[in-house]
Amino acid sequence: MGKKKIAIIGIGAAGCFCAVNIAEQTTDYEIFMYDAGLTPMHKLSLTGGGRCNLTNTFENAENLTKIYPRGDKLLRSLFYNFNHENTIEWFENHDIKLYAQDDGRIFPKSNKAAEIVDKLYFLMNKYGVWTFTGKKLSLIEKTSNEQFSLTFSNGEKCLEQFDYVIVTTGGLSNSPLMESLKKLGIEIIEPVPSLFSLKVKSNILTSLMGATVDNASVMIAGEKFRSEGGLLITHFGFSGPAVLKLSSYAARFLKENNYKCDLAINWLNESEDVVFQLINELIKKNRNKNILSSHPKNFTNRLWEFLISRAEIQKDKKFSELGKKHLNKLVNILTSDIYHVSGRGQFKDEFVTAGGVSLKSLNHKTLESKTVKNLFFAGEVLDIDAITGGYNLQAAWTTAKTVAENFTVS
Ligand SMILES: Cc1cc2nc3c(=O)[nH]c(=O)nc-3n(C[C@H](O)[C@H](O)[C@H](O)COP(=O)(O)OP(=O)(O)OC[C@H]3O[C@@H](n4cnc5c(N)ncnc54)[C@H](O)[C@@H]3O)c2cc1C
Repeated sequence: MGKKKIAIIGIGAAGCFCAVNIAEQTTDYEIFMYDAGLTPMHKLSLTGGGRCNLTNTFENAENLTKIYPRGDKLLRSLFYNFNHENTIEWFENHDIKLYAQDDGRIFPKSNKAAEIVDKLYFLMNKYGVWTFTGKKLSLIEKTSNEQFSLTFSNGEKCLEQFDYVIVTTGGLSNSPLMESLKKLGIEIIEPVPSLFSLKVKSNILTSLMGATVDNASVMIAGEKFRSEGGLLITHFGFSGPAVLKLSSYAARFLKENNYKCDLAINWLNESEDVVFQLINELIKKNRNKNILSSHPKNFTNRLWEFLISRAEIQKDKKFSELGKKHLNKLVNILTSDIYHVSGRGQFKDEFVTAGGVSLKSLNHKTLESKTVKNLFFAGEVLDIDAITGGYNLQAAWTTAKTVAENFTVS
């Protein structure tokens, strides 16, 4: 009897990691991979600005829900089997040297995503995995003999039939493949973008372009969504870790509201009381000096001048001349400065999709469909996504490894 055949749809991070992990452990299967694009692992080669932030130390991940706004519970259990430490070990065992930055992000020592791509591709070749590019899958069907037949978007039927299909197509979009999965009984949570910057309509920020604040907090006014971290002012609005995180927590809310909301910035990420105290100390120390001469230490002169004018304080005032009204206004601006968001930015820092194949449709131990035997899912196609920091790729490695083990652990 010939070998059983596996089709992996999508030659990306999850698909390749899955193929290699199956092939390294057993020769019982013949693996065929298909990708819509022409370059395997194209997105992986762009990750981390070309450096590939492939995982994280998870040292700052006290609360997994804050890291994975969708999918935290499933990942918590899958991490018992394959977590960031296993990822590090896996790549180091495959001769990729890694290092961790102070912020916990882990990269290859070469700082080249190409090293990871080349390694996975080398291993796939070594194990005789078949790869076909320019093949966009549009239909998965079960045949009468319990196999799978595949049809591509140009109407071409795949010559092979498969015993197993693993879908690793990344962020789902409204596509024939999505419709085909729905027909098979797979529940799909509407895909929406996550991890984006926010546009502010007025051009008041133009003069501040490029300014950063180390630790601010941002909130959607009147809603529960809040995050903190670095804030970057761009030519069109706000970006940086705090905003990207907020866009992840509020991905669905923002989509439903057509990316319009009021963004409240706490420039110092401190309570009103603490900020009052801080400004009063500045006043005490600098009574006879100009208000622009001194500012909280994580601001630049440019940003302080901007915030002073937002608080409607004249720039030629001395600290001692700051009356109660202006003091209150300044504290209010520093702790709850409101900007009207008019849309989402196009700047792709680490752009992922929230939504996808509902985790309810799957067996949580195997990531196999509950309705279609031998149909598996891994990677971003699942309703799992994370904030930036290497966590999205970690989810791809973990889910791919989980699927691979169905074929390698008896
Ligand atoms: C610019 C950028 C930078 C990023 N940087 C990081 C980072 O540093 N760290 C991190 O953790 N995450 C990062 N991410 C997120 C990360 O890249 C993804 O989470 C990860 O690639 C998901 O892997 P995947 O294999 O599930 O999907 P993908 O890597 O997207 O692969 C899916 C593959 O499926 C193919 N495909 C799609 N539809 C079909 C179809 N119908 N038929 C056939 N093939 C199909 C696609 O062409 C693609 O090759 C970044 C994302 C972007 C866009």
